[in-house]
Amino acid sequence: MKELQFMVQESNDEPPRRVTITKETNNLTARCTCPRGGVGHICRHRLSILSGNGRMVVSDNVADVKHVEAWVVWSDVGVFIARLVEAQKRLQAIKSEAEQSAAAVNDAIGEVRTIERCLVRAIND
Ligand SMILES: [Zn+2]
Repeated sequence: MKELQFMVQESNDEPPRRVTITKETNNLTARCTCPRGGVGHICRHRLSILSGNGRMVVSDNVADVKHVEAWVVWSDVGVFIARLVEAQKRLQAIKSEAEQSAAAVNDAIGEVRTIERCLVRAIND
């Protein structure tokens, strides 16, 4: 069994959380001390480490994230991490398109209202 621990801080508003990654022969587990770190939830602290992202690591072993990344690739977790990262990218792209569409709708509504005001003035002159 191999185990690595990281202190992970998502923002300055929250304390650092301890993420523990344990690798056994055919199994990988990830635990976190945050409120969402229990069974049935996946928190950003664990997700960042499992996806090989060391940006939120505040302990001095950020280089060890690469070891976890290698463990993940060879576990059942790796498939889901890869799928999740892809799904998150698609979601972000769709959100961005939706925001652009919403802005375009607002622009069009503004244009219609402006023209309506002009028309009202024109027919009342
Ligand atoms: Zn957490």
